[in-house]
Amino acid sequence: MEYVFNKAISQMLPSKTVDLMNKGMEMRAKGIDVVSLSVGEPDFNTPMAASYAGITAICNNKTHYTESRGILPLRRRLAKKLKEDNGIDCNEMNILVTPSAKFALYIAIRTMVNPGDEVMLLDPSWVSYAQMVVAAAAVPVSVPLSFENNYTITREALESVVSEKSRLLILCTPNNPTGKMLTMEEAKILADFANEHNIMIISDEIYEKLVYDGNRHLSIASLPEVADRVITINGFSKCAAMTGWRIGYLVANEVVLKQIYMFYNHTMTCIPAFSQEAALAVLDCEKELQIMRDSFCARRNYLVNELRKLPGVTCHMPQGTFYCWVKMERNNMNSDQLADYLLEKAKVICVPGTAFGAGSEKCLRMSYAVPQAHLEEAIARFKKVL
Ligand code: PMP
Ligand code: GLU
Repeated sequence: MEYVFNKAISQMLPSKTVDLMNKGMEMRAKGIDVVSLSVGEPDFNTPMAASYAGITAICNNKTHYTESRGILPLRRRLAKKLKEDNGIDCNEMNILVTPSAKFALYIAIRTMVNPGDEVMLLDPSWVSYAQMVVAAAAVPVSVPLSFENNYTITREALESVVSEKSRLLILCTPNNPTGKMLTMEEAKILADFANEHNIMIISDEIYEKLVYDGNRHLSIASLPEVADRVITINGFSKCAAMTGWRIGYLVANEVVLKQIYMFYNHTMTCIPAFSQEAALAVLDCEKELQIMRDSFCARRNYLVNELRKLPGVTCHMPQGTFYCWVKMERNNMNSDQLADYLLEKAKVICVPGTAFGAGSEKCLRMSYAVPQAHLEEAIARFKKVL
């Protein structure tokens, strides 16, 4: 039988991060001694107070639909957090609680673009943005930023690819895969650019709490001149080790939020009450979250210092996230060949730069959201094969 699929969906490519995560799991299940630095998933447990809140919710029969936008106590608490931590002027009517940041991104993109519209991506950009844009029958357009310049956002780079069809720009800070954080200078450049070209901005801030060396996270929606154009995305997966609870949220002005919400309540209704109760509890678990952050920071320092000793390797110190973005020069291999080589010879899984868009053919992403012993083993194996 010949199936006819939706054209846009048929053009999507698989997620290399998720594929490599699966590959690592399969190899381990077969007894192969593989070190996976592929997926970005904290190796910590969800803070106990959050798990307990989730279990209590189930035991108290909070197992039914909830208010579709998300339970009011959670949205109120998030509004407080967004005001205090992010400087975003909002209330509970500006917030939609979603089943993961991934789904929040998808419904935001889907709501804001029409077929043929162009969406600007600051490459290297996280694997799923371009594919979500493709799923919406829109066109991802890469803004050329460079490793040598540590991916600084410039007006020239933005102007070099903007067109009549540009509708949306996706920003990720702290950035997956590079670990770079948005500066005030860059935020102002983006704000002026978006205002002049009538472009909306999606700001993915899911790594906001994973920042090191006293760096301060900047939310572009805190700039009043551009706030109405920004849809801020966030979630609990990374900063609170809650990947499996599938909970995130988006923040936008009421008109934009109402439109996204319409799409949402026909496709999701709401998310489980226990995930929402757990998320509410984790917002008060700062002590546990700090322990995770300190550990990520120590691992980052170890990994970067060791990588820099390897031949042909260059690596900026990531300001945030739990990824190292590594440039590797070896026999003119591209990043897919490098990743294959490291897997075959060292049994270490890294994500090839090509997964993150144009211009990263010599780069690999390595996640340090793994135990220190895995990092040490990976380094020992790299030393042997490089
Ligand atoms: N944005 C970025 C940049 C990510 O790395 C991830 C990781 N999956 C997500 C969004 C989605 O996170 P989740 O769906 O687990 O909330
Ligand atoms: N965001 C994580 C990563 O980049 C998890 C996998 C995914 O959803 O892409 O590895």
